Amino acid sequence: MKEHRARKRFGQNFLQDKTIIQDIVRAVRPQPEDTVLEIGPGLAAITTPLAAMVDQLHVIEIDRDIVARLRTLPFASKLIIHEGDVLQFDFASVPGRKKIVGNLPYNISTPLLFRFGEYADDIVDMHFMMQKEVVERMVAVAGSNDYGRLSVMLQYFFEMESLLDVPPQAFNPAPKVDSAVVRMIPQHGRIGIAQDFAHFAALVKQAFRQRRKTIHNNLKEWVDDAALMAVGIDPCCRPERIPPELYVGLSNYLLQNGA
Ligand code: SAM
Repeated sequence: MKEHRARKRFGQNFLQDKTIIQDIVRAVRPQPEDTVLEIGPGLAAITTPLAAMVDQLHVIEIDRDIVARLRTLPFASKLIIHEGDVLQFDFASVPGRKKIVGNLPYNISTPLLFRFGEYADDIVDMHFMMQKEVVERMVAVAGSNDYGRLSVMLQYFFEMESLLDVPPQAFNPAPKVDSAVVRMIPQHGRIGIAQDFAHFAALVKQAFRQRRKTIHNNLKEWVDDAALMAVGIDPCCRPERIPPELYVGLSNYLLQNGA
C-alpha cells in the first residue's frame, strides 16, 4: 500500500516511539472481554498492540484513506470501524461500559473532552495523548496558574492524572508542542452533584469571564455577596482560587434560594 501523507487538517501526528506506545497500552491494561474504543487509530500505532489484547476493538476514524488501510490490516476482523467525526459520534451506540483511548488530534481535543461528561456513567476510564498545556489545565488545582474553567468542568466528572510527558520527536511529523498522556476516571459526585448541570456550567463560564477580576465582579449580575459568603466564598477572591466543589455549592444554593 502506498505511503500515507499526514493530513494537517485531521491533526495527524503519528506516534512512532515504541516505548511510549508500550507505556500507553500498559496504562490502559485492557482485558480480552473489555469494550475498548480508540479515537483516531491512524496508522495503527496503538491499535495494533491493543487489538492483540482484546477480542474486539472499536475504532472511530474520520479519514477515509485511513479507514481503507484499516480494513486491510491482518487483524481487521477484530476491528469494528466507525467511519466519521468523533465530535458527532454517539458513544451510547456502543453498548457496555467503555475504556476509551486515543492519541487525540489536537485541534479537537478540548471540545471533545467537554462531550464526555454526558457519557461518564458508561465509561470505565479514558487515556488520552494531548497537548501538554491542555493536560496541565485539566489536572490543575485551585490557586495554580493553570486552573480555570476546563479544570472545574472536567474535575466535576473525572479524577485525572497526568501519567507521562511526551516530546515532539515521539511523533512523525513532530508537532510544535510537547504532549502528555492523561488518565481520566469518572468520579461523578465526588465534589457534589449539581442540581441543574446547565446552570452550574453557565455559572462557571461566567465566573471565569475575566480571570483578573474578583468573583464578586464577574458574578455581580448573578449573585450578591451574601450568597457567596453563605457557601464559603470570599467575594474578593479571584475565580482561580475557588475549588470546584464551591462552584457546585454556589449553583445549588442559588437554585434553592431562587436567586
Ligand atoms: N492513533 C494514531 C497514532 O497514535 O499514531 C494517530 C493519531 S493522530 C494524532 C489523530 C488521528 O485522529 C488521525 O488518524 C486522524 O485522522 C484522526 N482524526 C482527526 N480528526 C478526527 C475526528 N474529528 N474524528 C475522528 N477521527 C479524527
